[in-house]
Amino acid sequence: AQQAMVQYQKMESLGRLTGGVAHDFNNLLNVVQGTMELILMMTQDESIRARARTAKAACERGARLTAQLLAFARNQTLDLTPLRVDGLFEAVLGMARPLLGRAIALQVFVAPDVACVVADTSQMEMALLNLAINARDAMPDGGTITFRATREAPPAGLLPAGEYVRIAVIDNGSGMSPDVAARVFEPFFTTKGVGKGTGLGLSQVYGMAHQSGGMAQVTSQPGQGTTIEIWLPAAAQDPAGDDTAALAGSDLTG
Ligand code: ADP
Repeated sequence: AQQAMVQYQKMESLGRLTGGVAHDFNNLLNVVQGTMELILMMTQDESIRARARTAKAACERGARLTAQLLAFARNQTLDLTPLRVDGLFEAVLGMARPLLGRAIALQVFVAPDVACVVADTSQMEMALLNLAINARDAMPDGGTITFRATREAPPAGLLPAGEYVRIAVIDNGSGMSPDVAARVFEPFFTTKGVGKGTGLGLSQVYGMAHQSGGMAQVTSQPGQGTTIEIWLPAAAQDPAGDDTAALAGSDLTG
């Protein structure tokens, strides 16, 4: 727990630092993007328009990066509502499947006593999609990604008392060394090389989990695989009130 506390304080100060920068940077991007839109309206000259479109696309990419940074930096407003875990998994698997390739199998398990968590739907979808992509990248020769939701007590002393759901994304890929595992939640930490990784995926997961009243943890064995856990408060209310866990125990391998 001591080590977890040091880690937490480091992330808090990194969060304060990045939050302000990301926010101001986003405003600057908006100015550039708005100017490009004006240029596109003002001219029919195709050589100018092509350059303006390139600049606008770069702004859009920059805006996605700052959105991920803000997600880490506890500077955004989350729309926290009761979210059904089975529906969440279904939505994410639909988005992930085309990105994963034939060699990767997907498994889903939602325990019968898991219904809703308190979360921001789009942030949570982005988080789980990022975790699936990371798992794929760790399994170049194929393997299995498991999405698993269970109702469990979190490790003692790290969260306020209450009911929590543990959402785990498990792979049997390359795993990581303890040095890498200790740094994965830091913004911009990546081992994927320039132009490949942004190092923002897991920092978004970390910030979102904390801002939702939960937390995120990583466990990894080199050569064995990795488990990323997101703990979220269980929601007292089931908004839809429909059948429980339609995906419970189902295997969507394919
Ligand atoms: P990115 O994917 O852009 O590198 P992330 O923050 O998502 O950024 O991940 C940071 C680093 O953590 C990755 O570069 C990789 O080294 C490591 N990592 C993340 N997920 C896994 C995984 N499932 N298996 C092995 N290593 C991982």
